[in-house]
Amino acid sequence: MKQSHLFTQTRKEVSQEEVAKNAQLLIRGGYIHKEMAGVYSLLPLGFKVLNKIKKIVNEEMEQLDSEEIIMSTIQVKETWEKTDRWSDEKVDVWFKSQLKNGTDIGFGWSHEEPITEMMKSHIKSYQNLPRYVHQFQNKLRNETRAKSGVMRCREFVMKDMYSYCTNEEEHMAFYNKTIDAYMNVYRRVGLGDITFVTSASGGVFTDKFSHEFQTICDAGEDVIYVHKDGKLAMNEEIFNEETLAKMGKKKEEFEAKKAAEVGNIFTFGTGKCEQLGLYFTDKDGVSKPVYLGSYGIGITRLMGVITEVFADDKGMVWPEAVAPFQMHLVSLCREDADIAKANEIYEKLKAKGVEVLYDDREGLRPGEKFADADLLGMPTRVVVSPKTIAAGVVEVTNRKTGETTMQPLESFLA
Ligand code: ATP
Ligand code: MG
Repeated sequence: MKQSHLFTQTRKEVSQEEVAKNAQLLIRGGYIHKEMAGVYSLLPLGFKVLNKIKKIVNEEMEQLDSEEIIMSTIQVKETWEKTDRWSDEKVDVWFKSQLKNGTDIGFGWSHEEPITEMMKSHIKSYQNLPRYVHQFQNKLRNETRAKSGVMRCREFVMKDMYSYCTNEEEHMAFYNKTIDAYMNVYRRVGLGDITFVTSASGGVFTDKFSHEFQTICDAGEDVIYVHKDGKLAMNEEIFNEETLAKMGKKKEEFEAKKAAEVGNIFTFGTGKCEQLGLYFTDKDGVSKPVYLGSYGIGITRLMGVITEVFADDKGMVWPEAVAPFQMHLVSLCREDADIAKANEIYEKLKAKGVEVLYDDREGLRPGEKFADADLLGMPTRVVVSPKTIAAGVVEVTNRKTGETTMQPLESFLA
């Protein structure tokens, strides 16, 4: 993509009211546009990052044999009443409205209920089980505080997956596979080393337990307790004498760390399907409730966490797997012949399938172009100037390490 065609502009400052580093950088780089607190639109560069994250997540979900769907945002009140989750006392993030005829509707903050209701049309017997479905969907939540930029939005993209199994054993096998798939996701987006599978509410020893995936991050809103062996982590809610006693661990063996919840998986058991009436006929001819699991990843939040974790004082630093472009080709050429040469390099890179953002903008000082390249944070910066052209080289800089090398143009293109 030619940067001269990109409609977004970079800027030096953002409004004082934007306090989160992730949103400040993403706004300055023209990745996102702030509509209001906790509500952001995605612009071309931000949309590319989000899509890269989605693609990685989707690949991992398909490995689990999950099928992709998309449920509606508008939801039916009666479905949520069946599980007693319609009232604002029970769920404090509901956005609700009414049809012209007075019918109450809700805007999806989650989808366990509607998807389970929908599944009643498709799951009848043991032959229809197990089934796994997932979606990438804009969730709407009336969050009280929205000061963490894209890490806590009132509208955000979530990947939510649901598993429908015949029994606990089948469910647990899938649940454990999902833990591995989730860790693959965090590894692939560059957060593997600092993301912990964290035991969460319900406790590890009850049947309705859950796990959070927590990434160590100063901007995170949670605190987790990581065991000194580095393998075990607990969230604040269950870090108490009782759990510690059951596990035979001591409080002092754990270290408190600030973290952001980038995923959360739940075992629901059969309760919700009983409430909603999702039963199947088993091999023995007996009608039984389906065993439900639910699995979320905050796609938008992940984008914010990646921004926070890798950024430096000059701007964003994208891991290759999620960068909007792999390469930022920066031309400092002013004469026609040099510009033609820079264009040629751009065309050759494109023909090779390299994802390249080409700063072909005219009339900017080199310092301005470099500052923009640093802010935008592509993994590799390649500078073409009259000097490099004369020497038959390009200047290649690694955004993360700052390391610069001169490479012969021919071998670079090869
Ligand atoms: P939190 O405790 O941070 O409010 P939650 O536990 O309510 O999150 P879940 O219902 O578990 O969230 O949603 C699944 C995932 O969606 C979370 O793990 C998180 O990554 C993401 N998520 C939740 N709420 C938001 C939000 N307001 N903005 C962005 N991402 C969110
Ligand atoms: Mg959660």
